[in-house]
Amino acid sequence: MQKNLSIHSENILPIIKKWLYSDKDIFIRELVSNACDALNKVRILRDQGEVADGDFKVSISIDRTAKTVTIADTGIGMTAAEVEKYIAQIAFSGAEEFVAKYKTETEKDPIIGHFGLGFYSAYMVAKQVDIQTLSYSGTDPVFWSCDGGASYSIDQGSRKERGTSVILHLDEQNLEYLEETKLRELLSRYCSFMPFPIDLNGKPIGNEAPLWLKSAGDCTEEEYLAFYRKLFPADPDPIFWIHLNVDYPFHLKGILYFPKTHRKFDANESSIKLFCNRVFVSDNCKDILPEYLMMLRGALDSPDIPLNVSRSYLQVDQNVRQLSAHISKKVSDRLSQLHKTDREKFISYWPEVEMVVKLGLLQDEKFYERIKEILIWKTSEGNWSTIAEVLERAKEKKITYASHEQNSLVTDLYKQKQIEIVFATSPIDTPVIQY
Ligand code: ADP
Repeated sequence: MQKNLSIHSENILPIIKKWLYSDKDIFIRELVSNACDALNKVRILRDQGEVADGDFKVSISIDRTAKTVTIADTGIGMTAAEVEKYIAQIAFSGAEEFVAKYKTETEKDPIIGHFGLGFYSAYMVAKQVDIQTLSYSGTDPVFWSCDGGASYSIDQGSRKERGTSVILHLDEQNLEYLEETKLRELLSRYCSFMPFPIDLNGKPIGNEAPLWLKSAGDCTEEEYLAFYRKLFPADPDPIFWIHLNVDYPFHLKGILYFPKTHRKFDANESSIKLFCNRVFVSDNCKDILPEYLMMLRGALDSPDIPLNVSRSYLQVDQNVRQLSAHISKKVSDRLSQLHKTDREKFISYWPEVEMVVKLGLLQDEKFYERIKEILIWKTSEGNWSTIAEVLERAKEKKITYASHEQNSLVTDLYKQKQIEIVFATSPIDTPVIQY
């Protein structure tokens, strides 16, 4: 049976293929997200007693001879009518319909899809895509096939167990995806924190629940460090971290780490991974965070970050600016709290955090207002002092400051004259002190 795709332009697929997505690797993210959505839907039905419990997983397999990659799930499956509606009608997403129908109280893993285009990213790498699917509802299995032209076929399928297999017949330019190592690397990049077990050629990719979902009170220091090592395997352990968990006025979870080594600061390069509902979106949080926080590393997950269809680009809007202000506030709150409750620890962290703090105060007045009382400098008396403390002592004695390391003869001289020196020797101290 041959039917026409219900779209207005016959050229829509070439357009999607060429223009919509910035990076063809992401086809795997889109298809695995769909598979997880399908599993999530079945889990919701199971929780409501509509289907029996079962094995919920995504299995990806490579067939080098047939030159295919198959993404199979044991999810909700589709009836023929659903395939016609959700797959054959481009840009029609089934996600919202499902969510509206089965409103659940405990949305632990929200449905990811909503653009209604993710599936078509498959055509960036495949010359033909087949679907074998069997709906949970007990209708006949369905086979759908489309070569990326304007027509498709839909027939009786052969799937015996509930769920969907999407079979990509790779085109000649994309045979690299037949390499298991390549695909495994992409899966661990994009799908490490997806909510269902995923395996490739029978071997698990080791995805797990991200630590940011746990509440801060339940996380141990060891867990924070282990999570950091998973995100940044080549990095030395971080010195401390901030666990974000915001529900109002937007949803945001994440963990930001202060890294140990002084890395070269590059405002164009961020090491904060951005996720949307556990799906990796981008390594670049450039527009979400103020420049001075770009030195931090970690992960942020927010369903409220407005992404465009390809998910790879942010649409900077009011929401994003609010988010940025909020994160900055959390960072200063955490530092102030540490300064107050454990000054010794604060001082030991200071060499690693001072760059962030000082850049921050120069760039952001609100940030300055919040941290001005915790700025500290080392003095010739051997202690670390805040501005207030220095000013207090200045009532009794003379205090000066040195912008570079002093020769011991000079320091001795000051000492004899009972003048205390505040050492402000980092290059950024000059503008900071002037400020
Ligand atoms: P989105 O995921 O943004 O809704 P897609 O084009 O990726 O858009 O998919 C469109 C719809 O097709 C989905 O909303 C879903 O209803 C259906 N669908 C896609 N893949 C699967 C799958 N593996 N199992 C069940 N349904 C699927």
